[in-house]
Order: sequence, then C-alpha cells, then structure tokens
Amino acid sequence: MHREIQDWFLREARDLPWRGGASPWGILVSEIMLQQTPVVRVQPVWEEWLGRWPTPADFAAAPAAEVLRAWGRLGYPRRALRLHAAAAQIVEQHGGKVPDTFEELLELPGVGTYTAAAVAAFAFGRRTTVVDTNIRRVHARLVVGQALPAPALTAAEMALAAELLPEDDGESVLWNAAVMELGAVVCTARSPKCGLCPVLEQCAWIAAGQPEPTYIPKGQPWAGTDRQVRGAVMAVLRAAGSPVHADLFWDGDAARAHTELAAELGKLHDLNTHAPQLERALAGLVADGLAQHSEAGYQLPA
Ligand code: SF4
Repeated sequence: MHREIQDWFLREARDLPWRGGASPWGILVSEIMLQQTPVVRVQPVWEEWLGRWPTPADFAAAPAAEVLRAWGRLGYPRRALRLHAAAAQIVEQHGGKVPDTFEELLELPGVGTYTAAAVAAFAFGRRTTVVDTNIRRVHARLVVGQALPAPALTAAEMALAAELLPEDDGESVLWNAAVMELGAVVCTARSPKCGLCPVLEQCAWIAAGQPEPTYIPKGQPWAGTDRQVRGAVMAVLRAAGSPVHADLFWDGDAARAHTELAAELGKLHDLNTHAPQLERALAGLVADGLAQHSEAGYQLPA
C-alpha cells in the first residue's frame, strides 16, 4: 500500500510552487493560506507574497493594512494577522529563521498541531504525523472501510496515522505528502475517482461494498451569513485609501455617490443586510483587530 501510493505520487503529483525547493518560510505561508482556502485561489496570492516578502523579516516589517490588502479574498483574514505576528516572533526569537522543530513551530501564533507537523515534515524533513482532512478521509476509506472519518478528529485516528507512518524520515515525509495528495485529487470528499486510484484493490471501503456515510457532513453556508457580510465590509476597507465614514455602510444613496468606493459599497448594499448583522460585522472586525474605528470612520489597522 505504501509503495503503490508513494509511486503514484512521484508520477502524478501536481507541480505546486511550494513543493520542491520552496524555503521554510514559503512552506509556512502556504500551509497557513491552505488551511481554509483551495489551492487554485492560494497559488497566485502565494506567488505574489513570496515575491514581495521573501523572508519573515520582510513580512514582519510590512504594515498590517498592507498585509490585509494583499490577503485579498482568501477569506478568514485573521490568518493574515496571525501570520504577521508569527513573522515578528520568528524575527525576535529565532533570528529571522523559521524554527525547525514541531514544538517550536507550535509556539507560533496561528500555528496548530496540523500546521506545525506539516511544516516540520515538508520544510525540514522531520518524521511527524501529519493529519489533515484529506489524510483522514483516505485512512477512513482505505483502511477502516468507512465513507467518511468521524466529524471531529479522534484519538483512534491519530493512533492509526502514527501506525501507518514509515519509520524512515524521508519515507515518512513522502508518505504524508502522497496520502494528502491522493485525498486532494483522487479520493475526494464527494466523488472519489476510484478507477484512477493506485490502491483500489486494497481499499476496505470498496471491499465492504461502499457503505453510505453514517452522518451527513455539515456544509459551510455562505449566503446571508455574518462571514459574507464581514467579507464584503473588508473588501470596502481594502479598496479605501482613507477612513470610510460609517454613513456609507448604512446609506445606499450616499454609497452610490461615492465614486471611488461605489463598486465595493454597491456589493455590500446588494446583500440587503439587516442593521444588527451589519453592526455585528463591523464590531466583530474591530474586536478582531481587522479594522479600526474612529470619528472619521472605519479603516484597516495601521
Ligand atoms: S479506491 Fe476509492 S475510496 Fe478507496 S482509497 Fe482509492 S479513491 Fe479512495
């Protein structure tokens, strides 16, 4: 099973810019961006970021507003602020070099167990148990025979992942990358392409007759959510060169007359957001450090 998946990866892996020669900083940035955003949206932003801020020190020196503008529409922009804080910590505590152990990586803002394990493995060749949603799904189907892993990560899954991890450091890194890739492009959540799978004949889920999932995964609604409203407000703030007066968020006519921001304000007003939801979005962005509020209006943090 290991050999089949690893050989398939060496033949078929997508050519992604953070693979094969990217710096540890480039790999850390990619892992943070990929946490909640698909590869196709991350790739152009990652390339722009690494060209503009090739080291943690370059990035730490950038103003927060510039970082949030460059984050663009990747979503969940608190990740950008945490990465900014992580870069500052790397400069202050690690001489500007991304730390190379799981434990030190875990100390960085915005870096959880998965990201620390992935960076230790893919940037530094360390043997760590990497478990993301793609790996969990492949393990669940291939080894356990279930359509989907449990709704939340279990101790049994971690134990299985540790058991499957090859002893050799280099093999373990290849295994982590290969299983993750198999889950991302072949053993996908909605429609696995089993006909293209290198381990079809060993798959426990296929052998069990492809049993249905025992629960229906919760989708992530977007339309009408606070997240959608926050995203639209952030797009206005990114486009603005100066504070945006609060009236423009509430008054559609005033917004339309504001030529510089008309496009982004128009998108916000088209959502027909109720006042309490808009208030919640603005207050939430200020509380999260993603916006500042003054008498002049709302703007990105300095
Ligand atoms: S055979 Fe299908 S379900 Fe089994 S591991 Fe391969 S892609 Fe996934």
